[in-house]
Amino acid sequence: MKRLPLLVAVLASLSSQAFADAALDALVAAYPDRLASYSETELVWKDGSRMPLGRLQPNLPFEQRLNQASIRDQFAIPYPLAGAPFQAPPRDIDPGRLRNEAFFLKMYGDCRKGEIAPRMKSVPWLPSHGGGSVRVTTINGVADQLEKVSRELDRLPAALIAYLVPTSGTYNCRPIAETNRLSVHAFGAAIDVNARFGDYWLWAKRPDGGIAWRNRIPREIVEIFERHGFIWGGRWYHFDSLHFEYRPELIALAKQGWPRE
Ligand SMILES: [Zn+2]
Repeated sequence: MKRLPLLVAVLASLSSQAFADAALDALVAAYPDRLASYSETELVWKDGSRMPLGRLQPNLPFEQRLNQASIRDQFAIPYPLAGAPFQAPPRDIDPGRLRNEAFFLKMYGDCRKGEIAPRMKSVPWLPSHGGGSVRVTTINGVADQLEKVSRELDRLPAALIAYLVPTSGTYNCRPIAETNRLSVHAFGAAIDVNARFGDYWLWAKRPDGGIAWRNRIPREIVEIFERHGFIWGGRWYHFDSLHFEYRPELIALAKQGWPRE
């Protein structure tokens, strides 16, 4: 008899969410503090507000797509599986770099209105190696996840520590260089490791207009971040090898082998 209410609840949820989408399932699961569900056209937030998913915009010039990415576009470029080789990605393959700004502003708040700092927390950074502390948002458990990353990095062999200490910053209320888009640093959900070993696409343009991919960050470091939900800027055609940002939905989908052919 006790099972009846459960059955009713299951049937009700099936009818209210007849539309299923693996990417959106991963998105809702990744941000439990904020997201509730979705329909075929909208994302439903826990506060009851709804946001359009928009449409995929594969035919937009890439720079324009970056500037006006929809929520659906955020999944247009799958993040590679953990253990995928470190190599130059094909042109404009920047998994995670298409971000819908309205989504991130609603998720984490607007730093220009002072909404990020009150939600941040200090995380000890490689405490055995004098890393001090870094401040990141507590929303969706970002600070807790970064603390797990820090504890694992802290146990790496001594030769790898120089890549991590000192860090080059977490929270920074600023747009991405040469754009009007807010960086994930402006949401308190990203960290740059030691800039001494960082490589950046804007510094690596070839005379033919292409980009010469380059990376010095060791695999052991990247794998620890990825295991805890942070994607790495070294996996982008427009690479930023010292950059990690919290995007657990993309890591979860990679683990599921999404998208399936
Ligand atoms: Zn960064």
